[in-house]
Formats: sequence, structure tokens, C-alpha cells
Amino acid sequence: DEMDVETIWQDGSFVDWDDATVHVLTHGLHYGTGVFEGVRCYDTQNGPAIFRWDEHLERLYQSAQPYDMEIPYTREELTTATLELLRREKLESCYIRPVAFYGYGSLGVSPGDNPVDVAIAAWPWGAYLGEEALTKGVEVMISSWRKHASSQIPTNAKTTGLYVNSLLAGEEARRNGYTEAIVLNKEGNVAEGPGENIFMIRDGEIYTPGLSESILDGITRNTVIELARDRGYTVHDRATISRGELNTADELFFTGTAAEVTPIRKVDNVEIGDGSRGPVTEELQQAFFDLIDRETSAHEEWFTYL
Ligand code: PMP
Repeated sequence: DEMDVETIWQDGSFVDWDDATVHVLTHGLHYGTGVFEGVRCYDTQNGPAIFRWDEHLERLYQSAQPYDMEIPYTREELTTATLELLRREKLESCYIRPVAFYGYGSLGVSPGDNPVDVAIAAWPWGAYLGEEALTKGVEVMISSWRKHASSQIPTNAKTTGLYVNSLLAGEEARRNGYTEAIVLNKEGNVAEGPGENIFMIRDGEIYTPGLSESILDGITRNTVIELARDRGYTVHDRATISRGELNTADELFFTGTAAEVTPIRKVDNVEIGDGSRGPVTEELQQAFFDLIDRETSAHEEWFTYL
């Protein structure tokens, strides 16, 4: 295939990329009843390693919980499958996509006895918002779409169906010439990006919306909070950030497995700070890249070597 990857792990075995298919009446296809993860493997100085695999796996099982979805494989089985997939495909720097969903069977909304199907795919992947985004920053639009409230759907679960909201917000932004969106929650305060968490810097302190603001509990968010605290920064990790505060922020950046640490240089065409990557963002971004390159030996427990 075009990704140069030959196999996908599906329901317990390795199958050819082109054969990793499902029935058109798959429950998850109709109702969005799947949970997934996005994980990166980095080609570090000490060899290829999956970054925070245990935390991603834990979030996968936790995402399944509200949907009463029993993933029919243990953490050990999914770990073994993933390591074997990466080794056999010689993937050293890649994106890993585990997904579990209600499969073919009843097509009522109740999943009944439908099987829970599981697949793990991986492929090479570079910077999500582009290499230039990492140094220059991105221009974002505040979406006219609001995030689901956490009282409407568990927003801290990484459920496939949730991402129609991300698509609406992201595509609206791109149609308007922006790289990405910022999505406000039902109260009109800042939640996150379509696939990223957001951080704000003001007067040398760091702010990021808390879990009650309808965000995904991002693993990169958690990583950056730890790195910032290691460096002596005060981090307010349950902040409520109003829309207006974005414009007067000294710096803003996104975090995410895909986006890593991406500066935001403009919101709705208003420059943030001086309209380029700010110094605190640059420091934390460097700390993040030193971490994942294994330039530093700190947090070795976050790496699962192939
Ligand atoms: N929010 C949303 C809605 C996301 O999809 C993601 C990507 N998983 C994130 C935040 C960032 O989470 P993480 O750092 O764990 O990738």
C-alpha cells in the first residue's frame, strides 16, 4: 500500500493491509460506537520507543467503560501485538492507531451481543500541522461549533462518534483559510482544538482548561504540565479561560500526540503576543523534543522500547 506497511493486526492475527476490512452493517460504522487511540513511536537516540504506551492503553480501556464495551484482549496482548507489528514492519518513527468498536450483528442502537472488534494499525507519520507550524506557529479560528458538554456525552472518552464535531470545527476553519480551530464549550469558554489541548501563557504563568471544561484528558497535555513544573513554572491545570482572554494572552500553544507542541500565532486574525512562537512555548517545545529524542534521561518510564 501507499504507506509502505503490509499488515494490520485485526482481531488476534496479522492480516494483509488490503484485507483488514469490516462488514457494512458494522455497529460502530452506523452509530459511532468505537473507541480509539493515537500513539507515537519515536526513533530516539536509544532506539525506537513508543511514547507513553501504558497511559494510551489505559485511556483506551477507560474510553470503553461508559459504553459497557468489553475489549476482548488484555493489555499484555495488545502490547505484544503492537510491538510485533512495529518490529515486523520495521517502523521506527510512526503513528499507532488502536481501535475497538461494536462489530457486525444486531443493528439496533443497543449493541446487544455484537462482538467487540479490535484492530491496531501503524504507519509512518511526520508533523501533523506541518513542520513549519512547529517553528512559526499556526493561525486558528474560533469555531462557530461548540464542543459537546460533558453532561451530553463523555468528552473524556476517545470515542469515534465524537469526532464528527472535530470534523465540523476543523473543516470550517480550513474553509476560512485557517490551519486549525479552537472550540469553545457550551458555556462559551475555551475547551480545546479538534484534536489538541490548548495552553495559555500570561505573566509567566501557564493556564490550561480543566477536565470539567469538556476536554479530552490529553497525554501530551499531562506531559507538558509535568515538564513545565519540572522547570519551576506555575501551571494552572483546571483553568477556565474565556474567549476574550485568548486575545490578550502572551502566548498560546496546542498539545497533542499528532500536533506535539504547536505554537498558535493568530486567533481570528488577531496576533498573539508578537505573532510568532513565544519564549515559554519555545522552551517547553524544546523540553518536549529533548524528552522524546531521549536527549535527557528523565522520565525513562514513559518509553517502551521496541
Ligand atoms: N483533544 C482531543 C479532542 C483529541 O482528539 C486529542 C488527541 N488525542 C487531544 C485533545 C490530545 O490528546 P493526546 O495528547 O493524548 O494526544
